[in-house]
Amino acid sequence: MNNPETPAGTPGVSAPQRYDAVIIGAGIGGLYQLYRLRGAGLKVIAIDAGSSVGGTWYWNRYPGARVDSPSHVYQYWFSEALNDAWDWSERFPAQPETERYLNFVADRFELRKDIRFSTRVLSCDFDETCQRWQIQTDTGSRLDAKYLISCAGTLSTPLKNLFEGEDNFAGEVYHTARWPRQPVDFTGKRVGVVGTGATGIQVIQTIAPQVQSLTVFQRTAPYTIPMRNRVYSNAQRADFKARFQDIKTAVRNSFVGFDFDFRYGSYHDASPQARREVLETLWDDGSLALWAGSYGEIFNDQAVNDEVSAFVREKMSERIKDPALIQQLVPTGYGFGTRRVPLDTGYLETFLRPNVQIVDIKAAPIERIVAQGVQTADGQVHELDVLILATGFDASTGALTQIDIRGRDRQLLRDEWSRDLRTTLGMMVHKFPNLFLTAAPLSPGAALCNAPTCLQHQVEWITDCILFLEKNHRVTVEPTQEQQDRWVAHHDEMAATSLLAKTRSWYTGANVDGKPKRLLAYAGGVNVYREHCDAVAAQGYADFRIL
Ligand code: NAP
Repeated sequence: MNNPETPAGTPGVSAPQRYDAVIIGAGIGGLYQLYRLRGAGLKVIAIDAGSSVGGTWYWNRYPGARVDSPSHVYQYWFSEALNDAWDWSERFPAQPETERYLNFVADRFELRKDIRFSTRVLSCDFDETCQRWQIQTDTGSRLDAKYLISCAGTLSTPLKNLFEGEDNFAGEVYHTARWPRQPVDFTGKRVGVVGTGATGIQVIQTIAPQVQSLTVFQRTAPYTIPMRNRVYSNAQRADFKARFQDIKTAVRNSFVGFDFDFRYGSYHDASPQARREVLETLWDDGSLALWAGSYGEIFNDQAVNDEVSAFVREKMSERIKDPALIQQLVPTGYGFGTRRVPLDTGYLETFLRPNVQIVDIKAAPIERIVAQGVQTADGQVHELDVLILATGFDASTGALTQIDIRGRDRQLLRDEWSRDLRTTLGMMVHKFPNLFLTAAPLSPGAALCNAPTCLQHQVEWITDCILFLEKNHRVTVEPTQEQQDRWVAHHDEMAATSLLAKTRSWYTGANVDGKPKRLLAYAGGVNVYREHCDAVAAQGYADFRIL
């Protein structure tokens, strides 16, 4: 593998390197895809813009970055020996530990030798004459592959240039997803943070004690649950290891890929006292179980959602007490869990500090960035030395639409998806043969899943599909138009029942101007999605056009 490029007929022009499969990305999905396809005997290479592995956990090294899925479910399941060899230190590990885990996996399975780092894929063209993908990178190399697999991540393309005049700012500007490797010193600095999603919350609660002053620019107040993190004891670690197979089965068969699920029955069947007990228990658990492991009706029954939202608002208000702050920090106008629920560690209490102030940018939006700081629509200039943008991502599609991906008839994926977000099973697209996607629109992994659970499932499905083609000496696989229409219709049917689809958030693409509005994630559940995918494979991919 990694043969030097061989010279072609034209002097100075080298022929593309030939692979069976090219994988874009060396994060959780890309590492596993490389492991599986290489293990099956294919010649594979992964390409990553970072200088090492990790994907999300390589780029998102902002202060306070921490996973909010418990570590015993935020991991790989393909090797019990790997599981036995790794010890998680705590329930919700900080970014460096998750990054270390992915490096450990890369080393243990000798994956690095088949990864090209610090390289960005610029274009991928499906050559109809040879039925293969032609890939061009920013280092000038060209690759030729039968299969092209995107493991480029769902939250990997930060939103840029949201505010006029960013270049005029005299201080330092950082986007949380492009955080420098060297720590930033906030001592004695006036710092501003734009954004109060899961990322903004972690930054704000972490840096508040380090800065001279912190100005938080908030457009929408988030519902937030206090994270109950704890160091794992040896006994707890041993217990997780002993239950490896059970936990693996549980995460694959749950609604959002965790080891909890809706196990309390219907909200309507429970007495008010029983409901309250369940909500209190899950609030105290300090995890996402209150959201996706309590009552399924939270997602599709407005009356139930209203009651649970009132419960969370009550709990949040108890934390801050101050009526003026409650008005600013406790959300209204949308329901609990209809946007991604963050977990926090003292976030609400941070606003009781004398050096922290909140600016309501719904009332007076940010107009522009000026040399001294942030100017809002009320004419005020909020003077700053450091500006942190925790403003989110062009989720699920951004990583792919920034590459020129051309399928049959020179169709550009970016153009297709600028009109409408359509995929088949969230893993393939009509007119793009042998292009496989992970965490793409219309699959749970786009937004509504514990990422490793869905990535591993999709990698396994993709591997099986590729091996089916290889075994049967086939050249291409592509979903038909009718098949894609059916999946889109089924996806929309599931979305129509979901309150998520009725709420403005990155889940619906509402955070990106001009992005077609459709619920990004399949809302039928990880378990149901898996059954659909399994059925397609069991029928020999019969609905696909296979040549
Ligand atoms: P996000 O949820 O999209 O939040 C972006 C924030 O920036 C929001 O408060 C948004 O306000 C604000 N914003 C965006 N554009 C703005 C503008 N033009 N003017 C003013 N405010 C603007 O992004 P995120 O916090 O980076 O989180 C993204 C996802 O990453 C999360 O939902 C989660 O899935 C994942 N994540 C996970 C972890 C973890 O596992 N621990 C940690 C962090 C993130 P509006 O709400 O009004 O749009």
